[in-house]
This record gives sequence, structure tokens and C-alpha cells, in this order.
Amino acid sequence: VGGLSSIGMGAEEPSVGISAAFRADTHEMKLDLGLGSYRTEDLQPYVLNVVNKAEKLMLERCEDKEYLPIEGLAAFNKATAELLFGADSAVIQQQRVATVQGISGTGSLRLAAALIHRHFPASKILLSSPTWGNHPNILNDARLPWSEYRYYDPETVGLDFQGMISDIKAAPEGSFVLLHGCAHNPTGIDPTPEQWEIIADVIQEKKHIPLFDVVYQGYASGRVEADASSVRLFAARGMELLVAQSYSKNMGLYAERIGAINVVCSSPDSAKRVKSQLKRLARAMYSNPPVHGARIVANVVGIQIFSVSGKRSWEENMRKKWYVYMTKDGKNGLNWSISSQV
Ligand code: PLP
Repeated sequence: VGGLSSIGMGAEEPSVGISAAFRADTHEMKLDLGLGSYRTEDLQPYVLNVVNKAEKLMLERCEDKEYLPIEGLAAFNKATAELLFGADSAVIQQQRVATVQGISGTGSLRLAAALIHRHFPASKILLSSPTWGNHPNILNDARLPWSEYRYYDPETVGLDFQGMISDIKAAPEGSFVLLHGCAHNPTGIDPTPEQWEIIADVIQEKKHIPLFDVVYQGYASGRVEADASSVRLFAARGMELLVAQSYSKNMGLYAERIGAINVVCSSPDSAKRVKSQLKRLARAMYSNPPVHGARIVANVVGIQIFSVSGKRSWEENMRKKWYVYMTKDGKNGLNWSISSQV
């Protein structure tokens, strides 16, 4: 009744305050720890060399600006699922993964939350304590109830593994458990491979469904495959799971908003049905995803160029490509000189 003027002021995002405090600080040794993005030695934004090269290639090809299908760019979806699970993994080979391009990590999580809300409205989501500040926001926005499981132990400055396990055990059967695939934000503490096995045991026992957030693939160990081992361990057990991915961080594509939601199902048929439901949700939220970042990722991670070579395995090619771009000096572009010989 009060019209639009009745709308109150929204709370400011806490990270905005940190950035403002950083700008106001005059100390010459200041570092902005509030913002997770690449910077040069002079604190300027940095675009990876391999991204510049991919964009040049895309410009030369004069690619069009047609709408993408609702599920996104096929070459991107293939590349991103294979980067996550491994091209030879059973889940990919058996076509049990429903992959839909998302609006980066946040948008992919939001899509996952919408799927959960629509099909499991009574389910609870478990979040690590602490977790990335936007996780509870996203779940609140999707009207999903959540609670926390113990994670960080300030006494040991390590993982409260017993606490984590007993909280996951105590949750109602069939809950969704949000797990950081690697490089846990904000603690930086990840379970060991042995601990991941036990986490998977408990989740399986309780018929919970894991929802992985994988935003830092490559950051924890420096190797993209090793950083996917948590997700791969769950997938190899034949479990159903959801994985949100983002290329904001590991490719520095923050503003391109490129990521994906992958849902591992127990059969190809179920994967088709889940994908159809994700597409319905995406259609209503934003209709079709943006193409530019998807093409960049498909060119850097994907097999478009390399697939014709036949001389090297895809995994081998991918490792080489990623090795170059994960090194600190992104200037030599070795991967691209290899690719241009093909
Ligand atoms: N998940 C975690 C744990 C993050 O730290 C971030 C970004 O900081 C995101 C998701 C989402 O990032 P984006 O939406 O840019 O992909």
C-alpha cells in the first residue's frame, strides 16, 4: 500500500566494506584480502595470457552472437564435465551426468538450490561452519532450510573431523551436504583422502546427497586432476551427487560469469530427466546463458582443437594446456603453440 517507497534499505554485502576499507587505507604495504582475484605485482587486474589468446582466436573466427541453447554451449558442457570427472570416468562413459551451463559458481549453486527446492522441498542442507558467506544467502533466497556441521577447530587451526562426521551423521536421512571440493573457503583446510573416504561412507550410510562447490580446481594442489579427487571418489562409488563449478578463479574469468551445474544420476535416463528440469528452471530465471566465457573455456580446456590430432590422449593434452596456464608466468603460451601445430 505504501508503494515502492515502502521498500527499506538492504543490508550491505560485508565484502563491500572490506574493499572500501582497503581503498581508504594509505599504508604502502596494504593488501586487499577481501577480493579473490588475480593481481599483478602493481595490484592491477590481470588477464591470463591463455585467455587473451583464446579471445583473439574467437575474434578471428568472427563468431556469431546467436542465443545459446538453454543448457549452454555443448563444447563447454563436455569440456567442463570431463575436466571435473575425467573423460574416462564411468559417469561420463555411461552418460549419467546432467550438465547445464550456469551463471558462474553462484548461478550454478542457485540453479542447484532451485532444483532441490522444487523436488525435495522438505530437505535440509548442511553447510560447513564456517563457509563462503554467500552459501546461506543463496539457500535463503531459494527458501531452503539449512544448518551447519562443525568444520574448523580453532584449537588445532585444523579440521574438526570428529565434529564434522557426527553432525553429518546426526542430520535427518536424505539431507543435502554442501562440501567444498578443494581449497575450502574461508579456512583453506581440506580433508585428507582418507577422511574423504569416511565422509563418503557416512553420507552413503545416511542416504544424504552431496552438493559439491568446486570453484578452485587447480588451486589447492596446483593440479586440476588431483583437485577433483574428492568429487571423483564420490562419483566412483556410484553415488548420486551435484557439483557446481566456476571458472571465475582458476581462469580469472570473474565478470564472464561462466560455470556449470553437474548432476550425477544413477542412470542415463534419470540424467536426461534431471537435465530437462534444470532447463525448465533456467528458462524461467534467465532463459539462456552467456556465450563469451563458455567459448573461452571450451577453447582452453576443451577438445575442439586437439581432438583432430589423434597423437596425444585428451587427458595428456589437457594436462599440458592447464600446466601452462597454472604456472605463474602465463606468458609463454606453450599450449597454444602446440595447439596451432595440430
Ligand atoms: N563458491 C565459493 C566457495 C567461492 O569462494 C566463490 C567466490 O568467491 C563462489 C562460489 C562463486 O564465485 P562465482 O560466482 O564468481 O563463480
